[in-house]
Amino acid sequence: MASFLKSASKQVSDVRNFLRDSAGGNSIKYSAEKGAKHIIYIPYTSEAVVDEQTGAQIMTKKICAIQGDVHEWSTQDGKFKASVCLKDVIRMADDGVTQINDGSCPFCDRVSDAWDIYRYRKDLEEATCKLTGEQRKNHLEKTFSAYADERKAKDARAYMYILVVKYRLNEQGKEVLGTDGLPEYELKIMKLSASRVEKIQQQIANSGSELPGSELIFEYPNVDDRRLLVSQSTTAPVFPNNMMTAKYPALINKINQDIAKFDFEGIEKSFPEWSGMSSAEAKTVTDNMFEQWDAYKKEVATNPTAKYLEYVMETPTAKPSLGGDGIGAPGIPVIPTVPTVPTVPTVDAGVATPEIPVVPTVPVAPAVDPNSVFGGVGAAAPTVSV
Ligand SMILES: [Zn+2]
Repeated sequence: MASFLKSASKQVSDVRNFLRDSAGGNSIKYSAEKGAKHIIYIPYTSEAVVDEQTGAQIMTKKICAIQGDVHEWSTQDGKFKASVCLKDVIRMADDGVTQINDGSCPFCDRVSDAWDIYRYRKDLEEATCKLTGEQRKNHLEKTFSAYADERKAKDARAYMYILVVKYRLNEQGKEVLGTDGLPEYELKIMKLSASRVEKIQQQIANSGSELPGSELIFEYPNVDDRRLLVSQSTTAPVFPNNMMTAKYPALINKINQDIAKFDFEGIEKSFPEWSGMSSAEAKTVTDNMFEQWDAYKKEVATNPTAKYLEYVMETPTAKPSLGGDGIGAPGIPVIPTVPTVPTVPTVDAGVATPEIPVVPTVPVAPAVDPNSVFGGVGAAAPTVSV
């Protein structure tokens, strides 16, 4: 039997990789940071392409990025999960015979079921909600949007994972210089939703520049809420003459040498959606999530009075603690339904009015992708000041 050391240990062949791995796989992941200013350079490689019209060879700038369509969902206990869409992925095991992925995507296949559940809950809430007028309108609006958020399967969303250079800054926000007299930096991967990419691209275009080779300043507000941190951040392109690569002419060569060595192998340690799933594994996940719905569908075929009860909560005996700890924080269980608003008790004259329990607006906390930088829930958050 091979020794455990031999089987389990890995040779350190590259110090950068070692550091990347030892930081729990997080060191390569770009993260927004409370109250911080980040200066980011978008590196690129040059590629010769043939101009279709003239037939001449021209050099084009190519950013270092991959893209993926990502399904996101949360588990019953509110944990954020994600997987790159498995549609059209054909993968064989090492034996060359066993198929791991057959090109189907169980997450895509369940999107319509998830909408059916949404409609079922929506109809039920509409039928049972006792509120009237403006109150009803507001309540239903909020509830329906929460139901949409809670869909068990959603269409995959496009994300870009782009390699960036993040300069190290001191407390004054100035670059830290290394022994070679050049600004110190780290390579990071920034995960950007399509809408965020579009916004950044637009800003850079407005300043008369282009994404490859540009320098951007990201400033983050001093808030703890992750979604606000991202949605209220600002991005501004740096004027070409003020860029680090202009101030330190030798810097670009150093960066380019590092970029040439980089590949995306191993990013699943920082972005688990790239870990991949077998078709069977994904089917088990989705079948488990939709177990009660499938059972309901089966029953309702023969029994029209069958009910789907997964989201129906028993009337709480004690006032549920809704305002308490951790609401809105990532990873807290999603509160499935807004409890029915108690009807106002009739007031008997002379009897002290019992305090009408105000049903707090349930801050439906969608699980926040802990790995998302500018995507997922953050991208959908309210204000964006760019
Ligand atoms: Zn899919």
